[in-house]
Amino acid sequence: ETKTLIADKTVRTTCTYCGVGCQLDVSVINGEIKGIQAPETAEVNEGHTCLKGRFAFQFYNHPDRLKEPLIKKNGKFEEVSWNEAYDFITKKLISIKNEYGADAVGGISSSRATNEENYLMQKMIRVAIGTNNIDGCARVCHAPTAYGMQQAFGTGAATNSIEDLNQTDAIFLFGANPTEAHPVTGAKIKQLFMKGVTSIVVDPVKTKLAKLATYHLQLRPGTNVAILNMMAHYIIKEKLVNQSFINQYTEFYKDFEAHVADLDMSELEELTGVSKELVKKAAIAYASAERAMEFHGLGVTEHYQGSKTVMLLSNIAMMTGNIGKNGAGLNPLRGQNNVQGAADMGVQPHQGAGYMDVNNFEVQQYYAKKYGVDKMPEHEGLKIPEMIDATLQGKFKALWIMGEDTLMTDPNSNHIRKAFEKLDLLIVQELFMSATAEMADIVLPAASYFEKNGTFTNGERRVQRVNKVIDSIGNCKSDGQIMIDMMHRLGYKQPTGQLYDAAKIVEEIADVIPFMKGVTWEGLGKNGLQWPVKDDGTDTKMLHINGNFKKGKGTFHHFDFEETPELVEHRKKFPFILTTARQLEHYNSGTMTRRTENQLISSNDYLEINPLDAGKKDISEGDAVRIFSDRGSVNIPVKLNYTVKPGIVRTTFHQPEIFINLITGNVGDKETLTPEYKVVAVDFEKI
Ligand code: SF4
Repeated sequence: ETKTLIADKTVRTTCTYCGVGCQLDVSVINGEIKGIQAPETAEVNEGHTCLKGRFAFQFYNHPDRLKEPLIKKNGKFEEVSWNEAYDFITKKLISIKNEYGADAVGGISSSRATNEENYLMQKMIRVAIGTNNIDGCARVCHAPTAYGMQQAFGTGAATNSIEDLNQTDAIFLFGANPTEAHPVTGAKIKQLFMKGVTSIVVDPVKTKLAKLATYHLQLRPGTNVAILNMMAHYIIKEKLVNQSFINQYTEFYKDFEAHVADLDMSELEELTGVSKELVKKAAIAYASAERAMEFHGLGVTEHYQGSKTVMLLSNIAMMTGNIGKNGAGLNPLRGQNNVQGAADMGVQPHQGAGYMDVNNFEVQQYYAKKYGVDKMPEHEGLKIPEMIDATLQGKFKALWIMGEDTLMTDPNSNHIRKAFEKLDLLIVQELFMSATAEMADIVLPAASYFEKNGTFTNGERRVQRVNKVIDSIGNCKSDGQIMIDMMHRLGYKQPTGQLYDAAKIVEEIADVIPFMKGVTWEGLGKNGLQWPVKDDGTDTKMLHINGNFKKGKGTFHHFDFEETPELVEHRKKFPFILTTARQLEHYNSGTMTRRTENQLISSNDYLEINPLDAGKKDISEGDAVRIFSDRGSVNIPVKLNYTVKPGIVRTTFHQPEIFINLITGNVGDKETLTPEYKVVAVDFEKI
């Protein structure tokens, strides 16, 4: 006998997982979430979701949920009231600030939280504490995208919309695996590949999309700059540049042209491991398409030359006129649901809300006036790796982490652990007792996205509403409420009042950030708005039409390939290259997805090894190996796989039992310090 369940209510909200930003209809019976559907009317996902958005929701009432504030007393956590927790933090923070100054304090905000909460977190750190030491998890993913695109175009965000896939003639997918990491967009791209649209994939791994692509450039990890220089060289040589676009809208092209013209293609062929003939064909295919769309992911950014690669991708788009028209552009596939939004809100140490330079006196005055304070901190703050190093040097004393498992997700976990042990105060806001929370002095139980209102901004600059579905679990509070409570305790009265009200914070954000001017809670409606949003609420599907670059002209930069210090220093001793990746079923550190039925589908991380390498070490499918680097070692089961070339091994990092970041290193992108998770010098042995 089947029974029809009728929902008490169905609430439309935005998926909490990836930067695609799917809309979800969440059905509730007796206060419990019973199912999720994908609305056909949603512009982003048009009735589709992946198995994370639709099925991985049971984490919200998992028995592991933190429900009360916890303070560590004599090495053990004890439940305390919110008042006691707030008193503890206030007293400690004020005493640290008095003794060491405001710059001894800092915060790591969360791309998992809403725009309003990120805005409040950066405001609390800047206004109530008095330092620009605020950073977010973009530091470990897309900071090079924001930096590189700002250098090229003046704006660090996707130039086009995903719906432009319907109009493109060629897809250039660089260092991204969207069928696993951005599945709904990945499915759209896959359909086009299967229909025969010209497709170029640059990836050291034979991903599902690489197998379907017209051209797969399977380069050696870390040689992105070299392959893009090769492509540019052939585009110029084949006379496929769009000279009128270059002349009208850009600057410094001649320098770039001269630089790549002189490069030795045979040398770069050997370096990248990709035949120059294949690169030439791919370059011709991209440049001769009427409209070619670039997508990139962490395979671009998580490298020593990450920001430079983003600037070269921008060059390739500009030199072929693939900017400012439909079916073209540069479109970073943002990992976290709100990584775009967190940066927009000022969760970075050098730029405040709306990307204004915090070192600039006029900008400081602007923020001071908007926030109703006398002055703002006067110099830019520390990035996450700098906070960690400053802690080890005894200069940094208190860290406030909102919703991030830094110990598990940041590189070289032993290094991070040592720093956390040295802090005088570690505050963690979390849903669960993560590895980082275990080390905290105080843990604050946070509400999940089902339990609050707010907005997330997806990878195409679309600000969408997150609508409260159920009441808070236990005594949890939204991150936004915690920020407001603490600002009041620290002496700053948030003008929107003592209660967190997302609509009012949206209003404040629209007043502070010029490109959000026309955004209102009501105006966001069911499908959101893509910034910039004008006064009258008109949004923007595409940037840089007719060469309208924020910095005046699109700027060409030129670079040579530079070998990562990770390989220069360690490759002799550790001859294999480890590269990290993601699984469809799980999301990053797995804090949420491991507490859902997705864990039944996939409960292991594996090391993928090419059978030729495995044979040399007498390793068979099902064996386990100890993989080790200069930093540490972990044991991990093996999968033999031809998708990785000999010399390369790959793993995901969702399960804490593996803790792969014990072996990753401290080399990062030169400009942004984003860690190079994609090139780690390792070796391994059968156990
Ligand atoms: Fe959520 Fe991304 Fe899956 Fe959409 S594609 S349902 S946003 S995880």
